[in-house]
Amino acid sequence: MQETSAIPGRVALLSIGDELVLGRIEDTNASWLARELQAIGAMPGERRTVGDDRGEIARTMRELATNHRAIVMTGGLGPTLDDLTRESLGDVVDPGAQLLTDPAGAEHLRGWFEKRGRPMPQSNLRQAMRPPSARLLDNPEGTAPGLAAHIGACAVFCLPGPPNEMRPMFARAVAPVLREEGRAVLTAALHTIGLGESVLAEQLGELMQRGREPSVGTTASNGIVTIRIRSSGPSAEARVALAATVAECTARVGSIIYGRDGEALAAAVGRLLSDRGLSLATAESCTGGLLGALVTEVAGSSAWFQGGFVTYANERKVNDLGVRSATIERFGAVSAETAIEMARGCLTATGADIAISTTGIAGPGGASETKPVGTVFVAIAMRDGATYARRFQFPGDRATIRSRTAHLALACARFALLGEPERRLLWSESEVVRVERA
Ligand code: AMP
Ligand code: MG
Repeated sequence: MQETSAIPGRVALLSIGDELVLGRIEDTNASWLARELQAIGAMPGERRTVGDDRGEIARTMRELATNHRAIVMTGGLGPTLDDLTRESLGDVVDPGAQLLTDPAGAEHLRGWFEKRGRPMPQSNLRQAMRPPSARLLDNPEGTAPGLAAHIGACAVFCLPGPPNEMRPMFARAVAPVLREEGRAVLTAALHTIGLGESVLAEQLGELMQRGREPSVGTTASNGIVTIRIRSSGPSAEARVALAATVAECTARVGSIIYGRDGEALAAAVGRLLSDRGLSLATAESCTGGLLGALVTEVAGSSAWFQGGFVTYANERKVNDLGVRSATIERFGAVSAETAIEMARGCLTATGADIAISTTGIAGPGGASETKPVGTVFVAIAMRDGATYARRFQFPGDRATIRSRTAHLALACARFALLGEPERRLLWSESEVVRVERA
């Protein structure tokens, strides 16, 4: 038998429904509940998903009750025969006993239908039934009341599946019970771009050791590696400890951190630009507008973003940006030379202070021996005449390459603005391949 270490302080989440197990719908309830628990100082423990199977639901409840102080379940409280949560709860908390009809619950159901001028289907009365030792939780938003009971010392809450009913019921009937007074689970996310996850982990060193408090971990998505810090304990101490660990992580990895929590990379670039009173323009080939889209996702970006060109055909690069035909003929449309002329032409055309250009092979076709799929050049041109170009070699399919190009192009612009244009970057084959000063 496998050993389980008892974590009596944690709260398990159990989602019920065949549609969840089969991947037909996303389990948004569990992720919402996990965040809400932390907000009230309670630590989420295990998270399980079980189909509409009476025996399996009961077995999972018993198992989770052995090492959690509470279980919050959602789903399976509907009026139909495939909703079995209340029967399973009965099997666990009052084995052998019949479910009984709760008079107040039945009254709520009759009132619900009466108010809407509809006859109540007999099947709905099932929703007023409960195991003898359980109590019903009111549901002003719907027909299915919730249930609360105990398995030994473990509190069990069964909430309806629909999020618009589940959320208010959790807030009203569950959160006050599970709240750990004076305790908090606080988190901070520090976003980085330009280093691989393992390099970043090396720099963070023993801060990432398991069991450290506050805990430090990393997650990677789309080339963005996020350092996630979690601090739990008495509120004031947790806050101080979180700030200390944030400072320590920042000291170790430095300017590779571009933003915190909800801040997007483009917003961080925008912040640097507005602080300096500068404006940005873009000249995009392989990203086809993706870069402009990332920039304009930021509310208020019109204060620092002039606009951009999508110059996909060579003719557009020549006519709109003033790229020389000879440059394209000699070096190719996907080259540092073309990227540089695109960025410079973009500056001239817009009068912006900094321009970003992208040109590359997103695939699946278009590769050559010297320029495989994923070869991308990004150039940055600055008002003072400085121009930087890099060659990247991105892995992945067309969508991945285009998305990474747009993100890394923003990272290039950010480091140029920080005065670190030659900073080592992930997937950058050559660091700066061309630096030109006017
Ligand atoms: P049930 O209470 O199992 O009858 O679920 C009713 C409805 O609630 C489902 O059809 C889903 O639309 C929604 N639902 C159930 N469980 C979840 C969940 N874990 N996350 C999001 N929605 C859910
Ligand atoms: Mg269901």
